[in-house]
Amino acid sequence: MKKRRLTRTIRIGHIRVGGSHPIAIQSMTTTDTRDSLATIAQIKKLEAAGCEIVRVAVPDEQAALALGTIKKAIDIPLVADIHFDYRLALLAMAQGVDKLRINPGNIGAKIGEIVAMARERAIPIRIGVNGGSLEKEMLEKNIGLAQGMLASAEKHIQILEDLNFDQILVSLKASDVRLSIEAYQAFSEKYDYPLHLGITEAGLPRSATVKSAIGLGYLLLNGIGDTLRISITGDPLDEVAVAQELLASIGLESRKRVKIIACPTCGRTEIDLIKIATAVDAALRNVEKDISVAVMGCIVNGVGEGKQADIGIAGGKNKAVLFKKGEIIRTIGEADIVSELLLEIEKM
Ligand code: SF4
Repeated sequence: MKKRRLTRTIRIGHIRVGGSHPIAIQSMTTTDTRDSLATIAQIKKLEAAGCEIVRVAVPDEQAALALGTIKKAIDIPLVADIHFDYRLALLAMAQGVDKLRINPGNIGAKIGEIVAMARERAIPIRIGVNGGSLEKEMLEKNIGLAQGMLASAEKHIQILEDLNFDQILVSLKASDVRLSIEAYQAFSEKYDYPLHLGITEAGLPRSATVKSAIGLGYLLLNGIGDTLRISITGDPLDEVAVAQELLASIGLESRKRVKIIACPTCGRTEIDLIKIATAVDAALRNVEKDISVAVMGCIVNGVGEGKQADIGIAGGKNKAVLFKKGEIIRTIGEADIVSELLLEIEKM
């Protein structure tokens, strides 16, 4: 794993992103922002699941005006996602949002007003370059898509820097994994603005998880990236779960969590291991403990293969053994495996 690239630290509400701060997990609501109650309810669920920064779409004035109510009801920084309309950006900031996602080049002369207000309120701006909607002028440069994305980011950055504004974060998302990697790498060689990682339009959970794990995992292992969002067509709670799993699998998770090791099952399995592993995973998903739990299908191999785990079970016929660090503690009947394992974990 390469040393993390040193970026500037930017404050987003109470969260610091960049520098040596933990990689912050972001997600985006799927509710209608104008429906503040539904949006708050979804954000509260995201918060509980470990989301650290949340973004909402602000398509119109009514949505912008709902931001104040939403902001007051939640505990994580709120980001307003705005396209083109400078008035919505001003309204969103007046409602107390913690960050704007807006591309300065799309705003025109009024960008000065946005920057002045953002500076006064210490609100950072994320420039979000999207490979799929790259400006015509960048495509016409014929420098390739990754360099075109970099040039687009540079154009937007220049506008902000010309206004003496440097509270900037940048994303260079594409739905193509290699293109995203290339664009982020090219950017990080030139700039030290913190990077928001993501593979955009990554698709349904299976494809989004694989694409994000490869793209974001590769970048993070190469020291690139300060915050991330996993884009999934589906429940944003899945985005947070996948983000946590991704960070934990490369040792970059910021909060303690239970790591579950489960065997794939085979012809030796004599209990319903998938059901047990699913129940254990669901029960421990939001438990903040730095322990590992093994859920293994058979005693023959399970205890040995799970011996690095702090605690675990290995199945037999209608029963399982409970073990700690590879040492068998006792036998449990199949019906009580999940409850007894959870009870033991609670005591740890
Ligand atoms: Fe099969 Fe046992 Fe290995 Fe699970 S632990 S895959 S049941 S041999």
